Amino acid sequence: MQIPHDFLQVVHNAGLPGWRYYETIDSTNLNGLEWLNGDAQDGSIVFADYQTAGRGRSERKWVTNPHSSIAVSIVLRLNEIEQKNLQLFSALAGVALAISIKKNYSIDAFIKWPNDVLIDRKKTAGILTEAAWNGDQLDGIVVGVGINVLPDSIPPADKLQFPATCIQKHTTKDVDRFKILDEFLQSFFEWRKKVCLPEFINQWEKLLAFREETVYIKENDIVIFSGILSGIECNGDLRLVSEEGIIKKFTVGDVHLRPASS
Ligand code: ATP
Repeated sequence: MQIPHDFLQVVHNAGLPGWRYYETIDSTNLNGLEWLNGDAQDGSIVFADYQTAGRGRSERKWVTNPHSSIAVSIVLRLNEIEQKNLQLFSALAGVALAISIKKNYSIDAFIKWPNDVLIDRKKTAGILTEAAWNGDQLDGIVVGVGINVLPDSIPPADKLQFPATCIQKHTTKDVDRFKILDEFLQSFFEWRKKVCLPEFINQWEKLLAFREETVYIKENDIVIFSGILSGIECNGDLRLVSEEGIIKKFTVGDVHLRPASS
């Protein structure tokens, strides 16, 4: 297999301690988790051109079409402080991506709490963070990021529960997958240094999609709460205010956020 030169350039630019490149894989996250059980070093990545069984939360599917998407899993071995803030790492990937898209393409990207990256209220990236435990000892985590870059990456609408888009549709610049990967990784490792600081939560809150709008919270497809999205707490919980003025907080779990206006 020929590893693309542009990918090797990304590895070099980011100074990655380890990498795996696949043309086809079932799931980069599964591969990363297995690598964590072995000798994976902190900051290594697994990249695939095509995932046959890409995963979202709760065993939902993430579609990665060939030659048009990014499927990357970042393997991390967390220090003690980071381990206490495990719940922030999915958002870290979302914030890092939204910021790098804005910086390099002047595209406004927002985060549908907890972590999907939206452009023009449509999903352009999904994130799934999974942890590898050894008893009650954390071996590490894998932050899996699927990014729709070129139009071929967008799955047919009937496969989706939320509208989708890709980066190329929002800029006249030609976008290149490996350049985007390069920019994203730089942003990710820079923001990682601040993930446990209030600055990170402030940045995440500024990027929240549907802020001050009425949203629904769904659990198992049933609306369990509706209210104005007011912000996030310092631990990453979502804060809504009901019509009666009651404040309600949601922890990242299997709840889904939907704008009332869609
Ligand atoms: P939701 O978007 O329903 O709140 P979620 O944020 O947990 O759920 P994920 O688990 O991150 O979603 O992603 C899985 C969902 O994303 C799938 O159910 C599908 O609707 C959608 N999806 C899958 N592949 C893509 C893609 N390439 N682009 C946009 N959306 C996708």
